[in-house]
This record gives sequence, C-alpha cells and structure tokens, in this order.
Amino acid sequence: MPEAPFTPATAAIRLTHWLDAAAAAGLQRFPVDVEQLALYVGKELKWPDPIFQVVAADIPSFEGGLFHVEDQGWALLYNRKMTSEGRIRFTQAHELGHYLIHRLAQQEFQCSQADMVHWGPEMRSIEAEADDFASNLLMPMKQFRACTSASDIDFDVLSDASNKFGVSLTAAALRWIRSTEQSAVLILSRDGFMDWAISSDKARSNGAFYKTKGRVVELPSGSIAADESIAACRDGNQISLSTWFEHAHRDAVAREMKLVCENYGYTLTLLSLSNGDKAWAPRDWGDT
Ligand SMILES: [Zn+2]
Repeated sequence: MPEAPFTPATAAIRLTHWLDAAAAAGLQRFPVDVEQLALYVGKELKWPDPIFQVVAADIPSFEGGLFHVEDQGWALLYNRKMTSEGRIRFTQAHELGHYLIHRLAQQEFQCSQADMVHWGPEMRSIEAEADDFASNLLMPMKQFRACTSASDIDFDVLSDASNKFGVSLTAAALRWIRSTEQSAVLILSRDGFMDWAISSDKARSNGAFYKTKGRVVELPSGSIAADESIAACRDGNQISLSTWFEHAHRDAVAREMKLVCENYGYTLTLLSLSNGDKAWAPRDWGDT
C-alpha cells in the first residue's frame, strides 16, 4: 500500500526520529547536517529518484534550487555567495522540504529567498510549506523549548538558540514567536519602516499586532527601534506600551529589545508584553 504523502509536519517528524536514533548511537545531533541527510533520505525511503548531489553554485538570481535530472534523481543547489552558515543550512533544508513534499508536482524549484517569513498557519503556499518543514527539522520543538524556556526572553537567549541549532538569529526568533505562550511581537525593520511584524498567538488575541502586508508602516516615534542612536538593547528596556499601541492602557509597560544587524541592513525588535495587557481600539472590544 502506498504511503500517505508527506506534509511538512510528518516529513520533519520522520527525519527527526532518524536523527534522534543516530544521536543515541553517538552522532552529533545539532546542528543538523542537512547535506548528509539530503543524500541519505531518498535511498532510505527507497524512492527511485534520490537526491544525488548537494552543491554550491553560481546562481545569481536565487538562493537555492532543486532540479530533476533524468536517470539520476535530483540535484540540490545553493548559492555560493551566501556567507552565513545558518542561511545555507536553512536554504538546504528548505530544498529538502520541496523534495519530500512537492517533488511529484514539479520538475524544478528555484527559490529566491528562504526568508522564513512565509511560514505559519496563515499561508499554505509550497514556499511556506518548505519553510515550515525546514524550521521543524532544524529546531525540533522539544529541544527548542528546552533551550528557550527562560522566563524572560531576550536576544541573548535567542542568540544561544541560533548557535545551538545553526540557524540565523531571525530564524530562531521566528521559531520562538510562533510557538511561545507569552505575549510578544517580533518586528523586522529597515530605515525606520517595518518589513514585517509577527505577533505571538497571545499578543494577537490581545489586539497587539500590526498589519504590514502591502502597507507602509513607520516605526513609532519614541520607540527604541526608531532611535538611531541606540544600536543594541539586547535584554530590553521598559517602555510605555502605548508608544507602540496607542489604545493600550496608559499605565501598561512593555519590554522592548533591539538588535541592529548591520550585515543585512535591518533591525530586529522584540516587544515583550504582559499577558493581561490589551491593545484593541475601543470599538474593537467584542462585547461592548
Ligand atoms: Zn522554495
């Protein structure tokens, strides 16, 4: 009987079991060696078209690709110009996700930026699925939680996680904001404007979110993020929540953390809110 097709979650779980077993036998568990795994996975699954090659290539217009080659299987390419090991690992894992989940639908995949922002329950494109798989494979929830369960999250905790799992700080921060039960908002900005802002489930249910898709949203004046004289505030400073969310109670206080990533020309901001603080505009209150 044919197996059910892989979903991002079932594919990551299958490979995570293999990697856990290999670690029990003495192999290093993290960071995941995606290159070795990619060359192994098709053979282990007894598929007729394994990945036969993982290679750095000069591919100016995209970061990663997966190409079917007649009679050989699949070639997994990644951009030679990428300098960050974390970006390379995530890109390779993203392409491995396409192989496991989407290879019957397409003969080739060219991925411009595995920027990880498409992943999450609200987007179900194949790019989002490949990112979702990569995130689950590289940062399994059990080990990720154990690494980030500090009561006060900050960029030092996330930086330690990014080192352990061999991913970018942004990938680790996204994993955290998507899975935490705390109320928090993660923002990536350039030149004073938000590229994107992602709220944890708790923050979203309290009305603390920004809509950035297709909009120009400026960083609020008075925020640490907007203050160009501050390059880093890794463990955070107290700030009035109403600086970020004008309808928040005027006594409500949040902790704002900031990191300027000069290599990539962007700033990461993490806002940590109290779970009870709400930011809805008055008319948005459900029962009034
Ligand atoms: Zn892709």
